[in-house]
Amino acid sequence: MQITRGGIKTGRGPTDWFTGDVYVDAVAVPSGGSRLSASSVHFTPGARTAWHIHPNGQTIFVTEGVGLVQRRGGPIEVIRPGDRVFFEPGEHHWHGAAPTRFMTHLAMLDVDDDGNPATWGDHVTEAEYAEAPSVEEAGR
Ligand code: MN
Repeated sequence: MQITRGGIKTGRGPTDWFTGDVYVDAVAVPSGGSRLSASSVHFTPGARTAWHIHPNGQTIFVTEGVGLVQRRGGPIEVIRPGDRVFFEPGEHHWHGAAPTRFMTHLAMLDVDDDGNPATWGDHVTEAEYAEAPSVEEAGR
């Protein structure tokens, strides 16, 4: 058993992988036979990942705020606390906060044989991001 109390420092999302201010808390790190990587990712309003893929897919679970998610070729979807999104292995996608809201999600994936969680591509442009539906109108 290994208890980690107060020793986990919040990291900043690297600018190569994110647009805007993003903060990451490591929840689970691969070790031994476990390939599980889990992070609590905090997006400030307007912040989002770049386009990317995960070798073994990814599940995100929204815990706070209002977010946006898109797979290549699909519309931008609004996600809210309690929503779960699974991205297929190799599926190009991005996720982030709505323009006017914070968003926090738990992100969970299995790294590949080399310990790689993702392959990163282009940033989501302002023009792409501007295609998001209004989160005020996209109610549930
Ligand atoms: Mn992802």
